[in-house]
Amino acid sequence: MTEVIPGINLLQLPLPSRDILMGYVNVYLIHGDNGCLLVDTGWESEPAFDSLKRQLAEIGTHFEDISQIVATHIHPDHYSLAGRLKQLCPAKIALHYLERDLVESYSDIGKLMQQGIERMQINGVPVDELSQVLTRMRATHPEMMKFTPPVLPDTTLYGGEVISVGAFSFKVLWTPGHSPGHICLYEPTKKIIISGDHILPTITPIIELRPHSSDNPLGDYINSLNAVKPLDVNLVLSGHENPFNGLQPRVEGIIQHHKQRNSVILETIKAKPKTAYQIANEILWIPDQGGVNWRDLAPGDKIMAVSETLAHLESMRFSGEVDKFSKGSIIYYQAT
Ligand SMILES: [Zn+2]
Ligand SMILES: [Zn+2]
Repeated sequence: MTEVIPGINLLQLPLPSRDILMGYVNVYLIHGDNGCLLVDTGWESEPAFDSLKRQLAEIGTHFEDISQIVATHIHPDHYSLAGRLKQLCPAKIALHYLERDLVESYSDIGKLMQQGIERMQINGVPVDELSQVLTRMRATHPEMMKFTPPVLPDTTLYGGEVISVGAFSFKVLWTPGHSPGHICLYEPTKKIIISGDHILPTITPIIELRPHSSDNPLGDYINSLNAVKPLDVNLVLSGHENPFNGLQPRVEGIIQHHKQRNSVILETIKAKPKTAYQIANEILWIPDQGGVNWRDLAPGDKIMAVSETLAHLESMRFSGEVDKFSKGSIIYYQAT
């Protein structure tokens, strides 16, 4: 628990696995005259709840003092504890309307997984590899497979609203890409931005083509990066790792990363068409850390790698560099 600037506390809450996003999520408590605003809630689990309770007590805040909860997006590390907090706080919960539309599909995890499996199969992932991944994920991360259905928000956001609390007036910025209704909160006078998973200091936020994403999530994401790049910001309050300075260079770095990934992927289909699965097998992963071969990726990471490859391929389809066709029930991509 740290005071990042006067009036804003950073609380770091544990995630069910140390393997994901360095093992914790950041939630921010903003103090007002008539109650506090909590931005993001953490993962629904006893360790995260106990940690939140303890850190709030350390700064003399109680659940009853939280009058507003705003979530940057619906992912469980940011939103799944909201349901329990709603029972304890007098807070109204706000979420972007496109995330609210996902509440129903996130409630039926079985259906969501089935849609994901079908998408993987038509993109060339062999059935036995998929079932192996699911079995290994259940064995290695049982706590992550316990899924808490998300709660419906009280208020929906569209972008452009101003959320005032104490000395702060946050402008809601709609920043789709990582999730369709992802938002950032920008405070122009204090020159801070609460960035959720849109911008992290060293991790490149994952952009996947999934059953509920838009047709071109990577294209949306790059547009959202360009939209926040010119903002006057001294401090980025990110959803993972630590708050950092230097919004512009970080945005540039992420855009550059995706450009490079696009050219690496394009190279693999210059000579002949391939499935997203075949492409994901050929390229190096986690390039920022020197690169990891496909065979050395953790099972869950292999599925994310195929979804990420698809997001890149679809963005290049939108820009006309790539085409796709199906043979039997399998989709192939080729350079145009
Ligand atoms: Zn996320
Ligand atoms: Zn996250």
